[in-house]
Amino acid sequence: MATATGIVAFEHTYARDVPALTVPWTAAPVAEPRLLALNEELAVELGLEPQALREPSGLALLTGNGVPDTVAMAYAGHQFGHYSPRLGDGRALLLGELVDPAGRRRDLHLKGSGRTPFARGGDGYAVVGPMLREYLVSEAMHALGIPTTRSLAVVATGRAVARERLLPGAVLARVAASHIRVGTFQYVAATGDHDLLRSLADHAIARHHPSAAGAANPYLALYEQVVAAQAELIAQWMLVGFVHGVMNTDNMTISGETIDYGPCAFMDAVDPRTVFSSIDTTGRYAYGNQPAIAQWNLARFAETLLPLLTDTTDAAVEVATAALTAFADRYRAALLAGMAAKLGLRSVDQQLVDDLMALLEAGLVDHTSFFRALAAGTARDLFLDRAAFDAWSARWSALQPDTQAMDRVNPVYIPRNHLVEAALDAATSGDLGPFEELLSLVQQPFSVRPGMERYAAAGSGPIVTYCGT
Ligand code: AMP
Ligand code: MG
Repeated sequence: MATATGIVAFEHTYARDVPALTVPWTAAPVAEPRLLALNEELAVELGLEPQALREPSGLALLTGNGVPDTVAMAYAGHQFGHYSPRLGDGRALLLGELVDPAGRRRDLHLKGSGRTPFARGGDGYAVVGPMLREYLVSEAMHALGIPTTRSLAVVATGRAVARERLLPGAVLARVAASHIRVGTFQYVAATGDHDLLRSLADHAIARHHPSAAGAANPYLALYEQVVAAQAELIAQWMLVGFVHGVMNTDNMTISGETIDYGPCAFMDAVDPRTVFSSIDTTGRYAYGNQPAIAQWNLARFAETLLPLLTDTTDAAVEVATAALTAFADRYRAALLAGMAAKLGLRSVDQQLVDDLMALLEAGLVDHTSFFRALAAGTARDLFLDRAAFDAWSARWSALQPDTQAMDRVNPVYIPRNHLVEAALDAATSGDLGPFEELLSLVQQPFSVRPGMERYAAAGSGPIVTYCGT
């Protein structure tokens, strides 16, 4: 019998530091594992041998079979604004932590590994399409330089899983700086256990924001650093037109990484109201709402930390509120710095950006293609109102933009919705070709590949994404 444990030596500092937030649990057996995708580059980065992961013992590891000391993690969260006191890993498990050759501690975590005590009504499984979607989009985000969890592998389980129809089951193995979420803090706050809260905050500081430990008020510094990391992250999303789709508080990390790719998608034509998710009927998580929602989530995070911030609640609310107001400035600065780079400028004023976004929106211009076309001198063709574009373009040109630098930050290839859907449909039917081709393009998003024009073009209409389960 192949064993998974010879391949990697896991550590378990989270379960050690906050045992009350974990439930020991084992993965569902996978009798016929079949590797659909393996991230060899990431495996090497983690200090793992790619070939070993392809062998039976590797597949056992990647499905959690025979791995000791695995746990389901507890968390709560606001879902679409409504508080759920007990969410947690309903179909996921933390295999353990590994310290990579660069010295970074990373979680190895599975999604689709069977029911846990947090499963509520769910079956604990995941299916091929949505797991490959997370793999593809998270790797695209990484290649774009955006903080994100990574995807190590997707393994088909051979199990038929009941969704709207029977679909092939799969397990995703993902890597994260940690899986501590705003919702993890909410879960602890609801217990009223201040020692547990302190232990969780100390663990988060040591792991993600170590400089906070030396601050006069380490917990306030933790909060400030999470606010800053999230402001930077959301700015990065906005700059590439990414719509997360389910910005619930349980889907927001303390590390500042993007997490939980469900009904996410990239915006084509610029429109702040862009929303793809079939369940987001009110547009709560629309493209243009993301900064405000992040701030709302961070207010929920602040509420959980109040007992650690100062002696009295009133004073704690005051310092937390002040810290949260920093979000707006930090976000704006990150957005403007990113926009300057996209426009080939050293710096840019808000008015030039606002005027551009208004033009793009009025003209229904594709967000991603625009910036490449601008550098190439062909952007004018994208507008019906050429006079308006010419007026803006004259202001931009006067600033002497560096168009070569623009091509190093503006992607040619993103996981466009129609391409993702086609690739996942093919994969679900057994053909991994389109998935692999699209993946190879989005992993090198800035280099034009001859013959691949189809992959750079916008789709022809709106698309609906389903909360991939
Ligand atoms: P997500 O939409 O992936 O962020 O998941 C939200 C919550 O629902 C988490 O607590 C998940 O563990 C849980 N969940 C989602 N799908 C399933 C499933 N098929 N079985 C059990 N729990 C699930
Ligand atoms: Mg989630």
